[in-house]
Amino acid sequence: SPGAGTEDPTGVEEVEGQTRAIIQSSLNALLANETFLPELQDKMRIQAFTSLSSILSTPNSIHKSFLRVPLDDGSVVRIPAFRAQHNDALGPYKGGIRFHESVNEEEVVNLAFLMTLKNALHNVPFGGGKGGIILNPRHYSEKELNLICRKYVRYFADVIGPDKDIPAPDVGSGEREMDWMMAEYKKIKHGSPYLGSFTGKSVANGGSLGRREATGKGVYFTFRYLFSDYVRDHADELAASNNPFAATALAHANRPLSLAVQGFGNVGSIAALEAYNSTETDNRVVAVSDRNVTLFNEDGLDIPALIGFAAEHRGDLPSTEEQLAHAGVAASIKGRDELLTLPVDVLILAALENQIHEGNMKDIQARVIVEGANAPTTQQADKYLSDQGVIIIPDILANAGGVIVSYFEWLQGRETQFYTEAEVFRLLLEKMKSTMDIILPQFFGDPFPLRQNCFIHAVTRLSTVLYRQGKLY
Ligand code: GLU
Repeated sequence: SPGAGTEDPTGVEEVEGQTRAIIQSSLNALLANETFLPELQDKMRIQAFTSLSSILSTPNSIHKSFLRVPLDDGSVVRIPAFRAQHNDALGPYKGGIRFHESVNEEEVVNLAFLMTLKNALHNVPFGGGKGGIILNPRHYSEKELNLICRKYVRYFADVIGPDKDIPAPDVGSGEREMDWMMAEYKKIKHGSPYLGSFTGKSVANGGSLGRREATGKGVYFTFRYLFSDYVRDHADELAASNNPFAATALAHANRPLSLAVQGFGNVGSIAALEAYNSTETDNRVVAVSDRNVTLFNEDGLDIPALIGFAAEHRGDLPSTEEQLAHAGVAASIKGRDELLTLPVDVLILAALENQIHEGNMKDIQARVIVEGANAPTTQQADKYLSDQGVIIIPDILANAGGVIVSYFEWLQGRETQFYTEAEVFRLLLEKMKSTMDIILPQFFGDPFPLRQNCFIHAVTRLSTVLYRQGKLY
């Protein structure tokens, strides 16, 4: 096989950090699986493989700027902002804009790469992009944030657009920001179609019903589909298999499970609510956490009451006895990061990246992890846990609900014809199910973790298109 015997057969050692690790593991897995461009001769495959590695390991472009923003007090700040465009072979670049004080260029590039894979995996006709603005949105007034959003669009107006690059919400941004940004885009590009320039807009402003809930709903769906429907329909096969993950799947099927959800934002709160409302199982959400606390109740938490409280407290969970009483929720209060190591069956990670790492991976008790956030498990932790038979439903599979409904929003905007909420959810779950029906048989049929299976599938789809477009030879 190409490059066999060397440490780095993919030749991407120059790429830093997580991106490099991800590319390497997916390309190695791809080679081992021999699904890579089977129509090519061996020698040509090696060549194509080398160009694929370099295409994936570098973004097509990185745009950066400093947004010059006058603040309410009259002072002027310059806020660093980025837009990374990783790959557009499958369609316009697509991905959120992260508003966070620790966002940086490398992170944005890694996240853009994950978007390329996520869209390829689910057959969404978009490429991968991601934006970032280095700020803590809590430190700015509404007026200042509005100005920041409009400046962002002014700086990047020529590189984004409905057929070029379509931003969306991410950590720290939401409907309000997308509404402002689209308005600015419309003003700058007057006369051209603008509804498709941003997704994740409010419904009143051309957004899609169901977009707000889409990511959380999809996260819970991937978990439920694997452990309820799929395992039930394939129980005999799984019992006969000696795949370690099949044993984990069987051990968690058809019995009530305890869940802990890290992060109580747009993704975590909705995933928790889905679990709470699920009528088919007696699953209990026993713990949730946010940037301040973990709340724990062995018998299950009142998720709707917590969502109600958070809505009235800038998104925060109750963090004192007094606030718990006010929310009418019975729970004990624990430290924020204690959630990760609780004795639960399932961990849903819906906060930020790098939450399970070398320092805490040995203390994780859950045997099932669902990645609602992007890249919440480091490469070492991923390997360590996978080697123990822990099933990790990876980000690009589990959290694609957001970008899938963004795609529906973009379609609806083009046709100026809107779907009902029921239709959006039906289409969303159908799409995620069709991906899982391709991936799961492969997963239980070979020894690779689910993440590798998803990468192989995504990269195979991408490489086929790149090959047809004449970009791989
Ligand atoms: N920011 C979300 C993600 O990471 C959604 C992106 C989108 O809707 O374009 O997938």
